[in-house]
Amino acid sequence: MFRSFRWRLTFWFVTLTTLVYMLSAFGAIWLFHIGLNAVLEEELEALVSEIVPAINLNGHTPNLQEWAKTSHSVPFKFLPTIQLYDQYGHLIEQHGPRGVPQLYAKEQEVRTADYAFLVFSTPLWENEKLIGYLQLQLSLKNIDRATRQFGMTMAIVAPFLLIGLGIAGYVFSGIAARPVEGSFHSLRRFMSDAGHELKTPLSIIQANAESIESEISSQESASNRLAVIMRSTERLGNLVRDLSLLSKMESPTVITKRTPIDLGQLVRGILEEFEELFKNKNISLTIDQIQSISLMGDADSLKRLLTNLLENALRYTEAGGRVFVSLDTAGRNARLVIKDTGIGIPTESLPKIFDRFYRVESSRSRAAGGSGLGLSIVRAIVDAHKGKIDVSSQVGVGTTFVVLLPIRH
Ligand code: ADP
Repeated sequence: MFRSFRWRLTFWFVTLTTLVYMLSAFGAIWLFHIGLNAVLEEELEALVSEIVPAINLNGHTPNLQEWAKTSHSVPFKFLPTIQLYDQYGHLIEQHGPRGVPQLYAKEQEVRTADYAFLVFSTPLWENEKLIGYLQLQLSLKNIDRATRQFGMTMAIVAPFLLIGLGIAGYVFSGIAARPVEGSFHSLRRFMSDAGHELKTPLSIIQANAESIESEISSQESASNRLAVIMRSTERLGNLVRDLSLLSKMESPTVITKRTPIDLGQLVRGILEEFEELFKNKNISLTIDQIQSISLMGDADSLKRLLTNLLENALRYTEAGGRVFVSLDTAGRNARLVIKDTGIGIPTESLPKIFDRFYRVESSRSRAAGGSGLGLSIVRAIVDAHKGKIDVSSQVGVGTTFVVLLPIRH
């Protein structure tokens, strides 16, 4: 889907830039032509003003006989055609390359199938009497060739430019689409994982409900079935709660209700709730030191953070194990440490444990009631408080989580 989106983006980019390039190329050729014409017209005008004083006006018929003999005439001989006309417009004299024997209005561009030239003509006066015209005709062959050459260059450059733009467009559309692609893929993975997670407890509920229905007359084992249904329902409930919590966490507007919190008091409260659970599983809970630290934060989220970490310590530590909790300050941060002597996490799994639905050993975690969302929620809460979380672990030895939360932000 994203590949075709990228190609489409590149296609439109190249098509639009081609159109822009073509329009600019035609514009440039046209301006180039106009510019050259203007320069040549100026040159012709300057030439006329140089030649006029050399015209011999004696005898009422102008002539350039004397001038043609001089060396001044040489530079002009081979550029424009120099023509003299009498007052009736008949050609009298012509110098330089062969021109068209016709008198034109002051200045213009003349184009026919056979020739193309620029004309500049000026009337000649003697004692306020019109006695003839001087006319210059400059072939536009060279200008046309230069314009054609310019057009060819633009056309030759075009495919290279378009290939370059195509590659650049493809690369840039990839860069632009990457974040969208990333969130799209994680959303898809998230939906498929969530679907998978919801399927198992649902099918257990369904199977047990069906079996109760058939057994209800005899009443046998119905209460066992109901217990299974209730466990699965609870798992579903936890999952749905975690999912909605996680989606809320990721919205940047959620943790806006920051209030001053005594973190020490909050931690002590949660630890009290857990003491009984640890005792029931025969795990010794050691509370090293809990300092009173006040910071700005969201109390409910911070309670969930602590609960999730303690639930994991409880879940992944065998009976007879130990769990240590401490809260102190480290620099400008509050530092919460939860350390257990549980089963540990393999090194290669450490970078993944904060991913949604990731479990080191799915069957064990699921059996222990985990949804695989606990640590992703913890991470989201830490991020929302602009804090940091670190984990170190060794299989068979234990795991330590260190959470740093900025005291003022
Ligand atoms: P779960 O709900 O499965 O516990 P979490 O996101 O809380 O999901 O944790 C992800 C995985 O990290 C767990 O499945 C477990 O394998 C591992 N894990 C987390 N905490 C601990 C711990 N204290 N000791 C050992 N493994 C742990």
